[in-house]
Amino acid sequence: MMSLMTLVAALTIGQGQALRLEVPDESGLETVTVEWNDKLIPFAKGGAGWFTIIGIDLDASPGRHTIELTRTYSDGRVSPDDKQIDITERHFKTTRLEVAPKYVELSKANEARAGREHGEINEIYARITPEAFWTAPFTVPIQGVTGGRNFGHRRVFNEQPRAPHSGADLTATTGTEIRAMNRGRVVLAKELFYSGNAVFVDHGLGIYSVYLHLSEILVEPGEMIDTDRVLGLAGATGRVTGAHLHWGVRVQGARVDPFSLLQ
Ligand SMILES: [Zn+2]
Repeated sequence: MMSLMTLVAALTIGQGQALRLEVPDESGLETVTVEWNDKLIPFAKGGAGWFTIIGIDLDASPGRHTIELTRTYSDGRVSPDDKQIDITERHFKTTRLEVAPKYVELSKANEARAGREHGEINEIYARITPEAFWTAPFTVPIQGVTGGRNFGHRRVFNEQPRAPHSGADLTATTGTEIRAMNRGRVVLAKELFYSGNAVFVDHGLGIYSVYLHLSEILVEPGEMIDTDRVLGLAGATGRVTGAHLHWGVRVQGARVDPFSLLQ
């Protein structure tokens, strides 16, 4: 993950990446926030300073953007501080997939269900928990895996264009143990139309990780879980062509490559 510390020149970052921001602590410093993508994102205090992570969506417009840092002090002083970031365009491949027809030509009932679930998921992503639940580095959800496939790919299902792939697919056989990429609170654990058996984890500061197409879910909503906890088993439920783990990350709603969170 790239980071920005007392940045002088503009920082360059690609579409679909997470960006860690850090500012040093000072006496009397009470809050730090950054405005990005029309959202006010809090910093958390940790170690010698303050940090947060912002997401650059895979379809963020390329070019120069301004992020506005604001420091608030205990004596009431407010200190604004603009920084520049340059977003570079990435070329994402197109993938053609064949899935069961019911996932492409939706029945009325499935269309209503998928719409409801889409709304429920977007409500989760819109919530920014104002603290960081983690202290250790982010890790891959399957031990020993070093790479994934398909992040950002434009997708055509049964000859029909659909939304880009917002996560990384990890090779996994049914029954492979899946662990959260970091400590967090389970905010959703149930079967969804497209995602099959799904677990969503809130890591705080607007960062969510999702684990989809599971054969089994082993956690409950509301539970705080650590990376040593098996949250579920890999499978092939929902809109899939075979068993694998779909691992996705949203950072304040932005679709980012989950590997960009690893240090
Ligand atoms: Zn996937």
